[in-house]
Amino acid sequence: MKVKCPKCDHIAELGDDFSYVKCSKCSLDMTYGEYVKFIAYKDAIYSDILGDYTKDTNGSTAGTLDEW
Ligand SMILES: [Zn+2]
Repeated sequence: MKVKCPKCDHIAELGDDFSYVKCSKCSLDMTYGEYVKFIAYKDAIYSDILGDYTKDTNGSTAGTLDEW
């Protein structure tokens, strides 16, 4: 299955059994679980920008993906 690469926005390949996500453009190679976390992390940043006026004390989620 084709999915959008979270790193370079090129087309990545999602394994039929959801076991991996690979992108030939930027050599992305991660598990689907990591992919979901990556997407959620990016969405969180985006939501932070949009919700700048309504955000409360949930800043503790930032930085949980330091290894990236
Ligand atoms: Zn890529």
